[in-house]
Amino acid sequence: MSYKAEYIWIDGTEPTARLRSKTKILADGAEPGDWGFDGSSTNQAPGDNSDCVLKPVFICPDPIRGGDAKLVLCEVFLVDGTPHPTNTRAKLRPVAERYAAQDSWYGIEQEYTFFKAGRPLGFPERGFPAPQGFYYCGVGADEVFGREIVERHLDACLEAGLKVSGINAEVMPGQWEFQIGPAGPLEVADHLWTARWLLYRIAEEYDVAATLDPKPVEGDWNGAGAHTNFSTKAMRESYDAIITACEALAAKAQDHVAAYGADIERRLTGMHETAPWSEFSYGVSNRGASVRIPWQVELEKKGYIEDRRPNANVDPYVVTRMITGTCCEALEKAGQV
Ligand code: ADP
Ligand code: MN
Ligand code: MN
Ligand code: MN
Repeated sequence: MSYKAEYIWIDGTEPTARLRSKTKILADGAEPGDWGFDGSSTNQAPGDNSDCVLKPVFICPDPIRGGDAKLVLCEVFLVDGTPHPTNTRAKLRPVAERYAAQDSWYGIEQEYTFFKAGRPLGFPERGFPAPQGFYYCGVGADEVFGREIVERHLDACLEAGLKVSGINAEVMPGQWEFQIGPAGPLEVADHLWTARWLLYRIAEEYDVAATLDPKPVEGDWNGAGAHTNFSTKAMRESYDAIITACEALAAKAQDHVAAYGADIERRLTGMHETAPWSEFSYGVSNRGASVRIPWQVELEKKGYIEDRRPNANVDPYVVTRMITGTCCEALEKAGQV
């Protein structure tokens, strides 16, 4: 029997790209091949020359439709065969390949916020809920909102074969997190984009919008980030390599902040478990630092670091390209590979 393939791609919306998808029916046994779309409707092409090309890069079972159905994550190309300017995965590929021997791993903590009727899920129609304090990893109808969606999303990620490593309720009502990884730079980002698509798609059935807004509510409420945990083979074996990576991030701090998601200044204020966007710092166990060295890592003198700066709305192809480029280059120069 023929089967349904949901082709998923990243559009050209600025400043933060969005996901798009459409369905192709494929003959039994046929591999999902190249396809096309109207780039003039996605901010990727002018109307008089609108064709863009979809090239499958990551295919997995579709847990929404079940059966033989597939999800097909794609890169966007121009008709002349070159990557589309919005194709950030194509820019990551050579960097990932250049430093493949360092075997970098990423674990990305994706925070997000459910919205319904124009306010975060769990917020009253007027005014505000009780202040932050009980919602993080909470339990009970007065503390957590949207768990049914979150559980369905977790099951869907597992059925799709994504490398999801956990979930938790976050600091603000309606705010949650899932983690993808550890995995290499391309794989973690492919899985994260696919997991985001599944989240939007499942929440849709509850008339709930999942958003990656980095500061969904102004005032004394936590923003939403995408902490990026990172290690190379050398870092997993030596503390010197850990410090080299932190110092390399310090030297390129502003380049990284500029690429870590739109509106990052609104989130990295120095309050709410963040370091100010304009000042770089790293420290052991410090959730008020830009980069945290977990306490076990200091104890064992090896492991990984956590870059706490990326926004929830960051493009994971960009964050893994930046960190791989900066840290792996420095480790290579220091002869710590
Ligand atoms: P936090 O304590 O900051 O909330 P989480 O448990 O939410 O941390 O996320 C940590 C992430 O780091 C997980 O996705 C995990 O798989 C990943 N991770 C663990 N070890 C490594 C490592 N050596 N290199 C890269 N990522 C790692
Ligand atoms: Mn976490
Ligand atoms: Mn978190
Ligand atoms: Mn974290």
